[in-house]
Amino acid sequence: MNFRHKYVLAIDQGTTTSRAILFNRQGQVITLSQKTFQQYFPKPGWVEHDPNEIWYTQSLAIKEAMAKADVTDTHIACIGIANQRETTIVWDRETGFPVYNAIVWQDRRTADYCEELKAEGYSDFIQQKTGLVIDAYFSATKVKWILDHVKGIRERAERGELCFGTVDSWLVWKLTRGSQFITDVTNASRTMLFNINTLQWDQELLDLFTIPSSMLPEVKSSSEVYCETSTPIFKTGIPVSGMAGDQQAALFGQLCLEEGMMKTTYGTGCFMIVNIGDKPVLSQNNLLTTIAWKLGDKVTYALEGSVFVGGAAIQWLRDGIGLIPNAPVTEQMAKSVPDNGGVYFVPALTGLGAPYWDQYARGAIIGITRGTTAAHLTRAALEGICYQVYDVLIAMENDIHAKPKEIRVDGGAIANNFLMQFQADISRCPVVRPCIIETTALGAAYLAGLAVNYWKDMDELKEQWSLDTIFTAKMKPETALALLTDWHKAVGRTMNWAMD
Ligand code: ADP
Repeated sequence: MNFRHKYVLAIDQGTTTSRAILFNRQGQVITLSQKTFQQYFPKPGWVEHDPNEIWYTQSLAIKEAMAKADVTDTHIACIGIANQRETTIVWDRETGFPVYNAIVWQDRRTADYCEELKAEGYSDFIQQKTGLVIDAYFSATKVKWILDHVKGIRERAERGELCFGTVDSWLVWKLTRGSQFITDVTNASRTMLFNINTLQWDQELLDLFTIPSSMLPEVKSSSEVYCETSTPIFKTGIPVSGMAGDQQAALFGQLCLEEGMMKTTYGTGCFMIVNIGDKPVLSQNNLLTTIAWKLGDKVTYALEGSVFVGGAAIQWLRDGIGLIPNAPVTEQMAKSVPDNGGVYFVPALTGLGAPYWDQYARGAIIGITRGTTAAHLTRAALEGICYQVYDVLIAMENDIHAKPKEIRVDGGAIANNFLMQFQADISRCPVVRPCIIETTALGAAYLAGLAVNYWKDMDELKEQWSLDTIFTAKMKPETALALLTDWHKAVGRTMNWAMD
């Protein structure tokens, strides 16, 4: 251990912000910098980012976090990366120029193709290899779309001139000025091209999606020294030694290290993930089996349920229809009314994820009367987030044949006490908010720090976890049941809405 190295730098490249956070040895945030970047919606259901802007905002955040802490790179032990997953970037191996915008995980442009695959009977084949449900969410169909639609690209890909990577690969490429083309098992497991049993890219899947294997990065574990940086951001090379998709990083940051431990992140989407140990058990309830992390040779698997629109429903209230001035105000608005006034907001703005998997569902606000106010709509939006999480929780309980002891939470929206309490009320399971909210970044920092002995072992990390609040159910069970019954009625109305 080198005591000159005071900090670990975590990169948390999310859907709406690029962040950089410096952590100290106690796992405390020293400085945080975040930069938002443009969201592009070229057509209904399409979502894109500019890969160069992702890198530009990320590098600004890194520089700012370091400047705020007044540190130079000699103080930084290592770098860990957590990133938005599935988002697909294809770039030129020579020049590093992207050939198309990043197609974001939320993008539905390949939904019809996914329906065709299901109709052709590929569901079991794909689930057994990848643990995933066929959906436009994952990278495979997005890569295929770029190859099929960007002029001249397929020929270039076949000549080995192009790279496909998720955002982790793109960031490492940029951090090393194109000398490293790698990903980690957690990100690979979200592409729908990676076999989670053999831990390799799957040739049959590459053939199915007509993707040349030369485009793919080398797959690494989640915690090892992959390389040193060679970007001008740092004067010296800093080891990059931890990498995981954001949800897996958050599971690690929450120290859900034992089988059966669960966390939910309330960000743009909501992501529940439960540690299922060392076997890739397939879900019977429309959840995903995914890789939680690989440490040394040991692989840990997880079951996951993703809700596509969580905090994004609140964003939509603010930016889409201008109902609220900012996100925090939703707490007091929701509390200003005794109940939802019979209003349900199903935030299926980009279809419904687990456990419904309806690409054609669309959002609905239902139960509006003349007495409905902005407060009711706002409350319905927050409640809608919790109901969706509840539906995933039940699917998980059915798959693991157990009720979890608690749900650990993180993400931007957990600052909202109404949201947390309502989640506990509906789920009838303690909702546990830790002191550290930045668990995604912390998980990336932990993975990186373990690889360079900045932290000794898991026991040292476990001592760092500390509790902020436990929310326990206060609502009468029959009230919760009645609300859930109406919620499920409302969900039923939204399904298949956009189907021709
Ligand atoms: P991501 O990493 O997905 O970009 P964050 O974890 O930063 O997202 O969370 C931001 C999301 O949380 C936004 O969608 C925002 O609308 C929502 N949010 C932030 N603060 C609150 C709040 N106090 N109440 C409800 N939602 C909130």
